[in-house]
Amino acid sequence: MIISFDIDNTLIPYSNEFEVENKGLLSKILGAESIRKGSIQLFSELENKGHSIWIYTTSYRSAFNIKKTFKSYGLNPSRIINEETNQQFLKKHNCSASKNPSLFGIDLHVDDARGVEIEGAKYGFETIIIDINDEDWANKILKKIRGIELNMAWRFKELLVTLITLKSNAKKQRAFNGVGQAEDDMVDDFDNFYSRSRDVLMEYDYITATEDSILSKLAKLIRLKCEDPENAFWYQLESHQDWEIIRGLASKVLLKMKKENFEVEFVHTNEFDDGIMLQRTKTKIVEK
Ligand SMILES: [Mg+2]
Repeated sequence: MIISFDIDNTLIPYSNEFEVENKGLLSKILGAESIRKGSIQLFSELENKGHSIWIYTTSYRSAFNIKKTFKSYGLNPSRIINEETNQQFLKKHNCSASKNPSLFGIDLHVDDARGVEIEGAKYGFETIIIDINDEDWANKILKKIRGIELNMAWRFKELLVTLITLKSNAKKQRAFNGVGQAEDDMVDDFDNFYSRSRDVLMEYDYITATEDSILSKLAKLIRLKCEDPENAFWYQLESHQDWEIIRGLASKVLLKMKKENFEVEFVHTNEFDDGIMLQRTKTKIVEK
């Protein structure tokens, strides 16, 4: 993964906003700037994990001076983007953002400015905003990276899709699941995106304890139904009263998540592989 860092008030304080690394002799001789305490260890951990570290700043410091500062602490960011390079790129791509890491192929940008987070949401790039007072900043970044590697945003979206499907009426459930058994598909999806993902969803604050307690009730009910040897329940989407309990619990958790007005738009496409038809479903969540 390519991870870029802002400079001012992210890695280098304007004045004394946060603690800094001790300056060695080389830093003193080279007249290097002070860098945030924890940077040396964080850079080395990221590099050991195979990530590439870039600097992305709207400062006009020269790339040479920036390199010199980091080098004096034994750090070697792979690429420096200063305001000059940034402006050239933004202009070329007709982009009016102040920064746009995705234009450079950066996977995650670390910054102190909330405005950059807003631009990230607008232009579709991943950010993490670090407060100047945050002493646990390095761990926050490492956790965010793990979250990206675990594809958390995707997992959560799939959980929402599953819950919206579970709360829908039988006709919609059949239309969404297309070819095959709508009931089985919903159970599989719920198992994947809630039961098997529960620990990480909690760890990354995608679901609260209250939401989790409703979801676990839903999981318990579904498990109970799956163990039922008669199993007629599953094939009576329209008529079985237990389906109303399931739809009710799914609605309740979506309400708690403030997602009660969201719906799933989907497109099915069919592919033939060795005479076997495979159906793929593309989904999008939209607010109604
Ligand atoms: Mg800054």
